Amino acid sequence: MDKLARYSDEFINELKENVDIVDLISDYLELKKSGNRYKGLCPFHSEKTPSFFVNPDNNFYHCFGCGAGGDAINFVMEIENLTFIESIKMLAERSGMELPDLSDQQRQLYKEREKLFSLNRLAARFYNYLLTDTNMGEQALQYLYKRGFNDQDIKKFQLGFAADEWQLLLNFLQKKGFSIHLIKKAGLISEGKNNSHYDKFRNRVIFPIFNNRGEVIAFGGRILNSEDSYGPKYLNSPETPIFSKKKNLYGLHLAKDSIREQNSCIIMEGYTDVIQAHKNGFENSIASLGTAFTEEQAKLIKRYAENAYIAYDADTAGNKATLRGLDILSNTGINVKVIQLEEGSDPDQLLKNEGEEVFNNFIENAVNLIDFKINMIINNQDLSEPGVRKKVLRSIVELLTDVKDNLEREIYIERAAEKTNFKAEVLAEEVEKEFKKKKSRNNQRNREKTNKKREKEFDLYSQLSYYQQVEEEVLAHFISNPDLREELAARLSKNDFNGRTSQLAEYLFKGSVISNSVQLDKIKDSLGEELLSYWSEILVKQDNALDKGRILKLADYLSSKRIANNKKKLCALLSKKELSLDKLNNILLTFYSLNYNIERRD
Ligand SMILES: [Zn+2]
Repeated sequence: MDKLARYSDEFINELKENVDIVDLISDYLELKKSGNRYKGLCPFHSEKTPSFFVNPDNNFYHCFGCGAGGDAINFVMEIENLTFIESIKMLAERSGMELPDLSDQQRQLYKEREKLFSLNRLAARFYNYLLTDTNMGEQALQYLYKRGFNDQDIKKFQLGFAADEWQLLLNFLQKKGFSIHLIKKAGLISEGKNNSHYDKFRNRVIFPIFNNRGEVIAFGGRILNSEDSYGPKYLNSPETPIFSKKKNLYGLHLAKDSIREQNSCIIMEGYTDVIQAHKNGFENSIASLGTAFTEEQAKLIKRYAENAYIAYDADTAGNKATLRGLDILSNTGINVKVIQLEEGSDPDQLLKNEGEEVFNNFIENAVNLIDFKINMIINNQDLSEPGVRKKVLRSIVELLTDVKDNLEREIYIERAAEKTNFKAEVLAEEVEKEFKKKKSRNNQRNREKTNKKREKEFDLYSQLSYYQQVEEEVLAHFISNPDLREELAARLSKNDFNGRTSQLAEYLFKGSVISNSVQLDKIKDSLGEELLSYWSEILVKQDNALDKGRILKLADYLSSKRIANNKKKLCALLSKKELSLDKLNNILLTFYSLNYNIERRD
């Protein structure tokens, strides 16, 4: 994207100045003042002690835990899953600034996404119309009524029907002025023989999928007549420029307020589960689009709540992919509890047949993830068989050694013993033995890790050498003070820096950077992820006060350090005996010029 023309740098700079980054980020997480900066728990990774810092002086944020960082625009792009242009638009609205005209290419890109949104909106309306207002939709409507949904539910979730026709939607959308190219991009048609196209969803009840801002981004379709050959029971839109399955959750746009309010959500498997749940007052219900949870989805939930109840069908809940997903959820820092439904039952049926109160009982009896896993291990095992018993014991021991908290571990051991009729002491002994083994294995590594973390928490600079601090400070000022750049570049080269600062310096001291404004989003591709993260790191560390004289002195200090080093190397060369006259001459000349460079500055 950086290759395209865009909003002017002036506009973007003005926008960034107008946005109070602390105020902006505070909309998403709690920030506490810490010296000149603010810190809080990172919204992009799971953590218990804050390593997410915001520097209000230069409007940069950086997470020392996961490396996420950037300016206000980057933050909005990341957290709202928006494009650059959309983020600009959102921030401009927020700060009451009017958007200037976009370049043609930029406008096209932005327009395409906008068009995809309106195309989807229209398609959803069309499907809904077919369901509620035409004979074609009669059977589907009766099907939904039979499943216990009424007109209000249909309206709330904008349910629809894709007729048993090959080109009904295609023709409709074309008539409304959308190109085949765009309809295909939206994932609503497939290509057939001889360049022909046909509707992807046919004879299906349609469940529009919304993003958390309530825009239709995709569709799910459930087959109406299972005896017919219409493909799989459920069919979803493919990935499109506006839809990524792993980043969205069904029903979140309707559930998010309730999730935030209750600090918990209920995660279900299917669309109808969610609709039935909302109908019965469980308005914090959502569905994962597929049962294997992704990290993105986990983080999305974490933005709204700390607790999640899993209400999957009994057979789904126990399968490996599901459990992996639940681990991801739990590792994000979400307290996961599993609602244990009876075999063959799902939330939709349960709510429909037994009602709100019974479901509430199930929620109250939800077990946490470890208990659930213990149950899974024991389930359907004949514990009177010695061989089986041993295997079960092994699996439980392995599971419980992962519980780090002593007290917690003890509680689980007791519960597991009760369930299996193992002696608690035996189980405890086995678990502790394994736990100690594991602990000593990890100890060294963990110690190093926690030390590092601790240092970072108290002092952003403590793990740095003085040289590094100076290098970082000089580069930070180079970036944020364009007026200083020429003077600094004249005094320094990348060789005056070490490691990552040297890589960054090499990039910065190019003529093009010196004379232009440096925009993080522009350099993203050429800089690479690691350096980009480093960039926000040094900016979040930067102290505001600019003392030009001091910075130039620091720069001279860096270059004189290099000169001194080079002189040392030359001395070492001179001490070797077998030097030709030519070489000796060269060395002396270099030596002389190095001295000259230092004196010139003094
Ligand atoms: Zn982070």
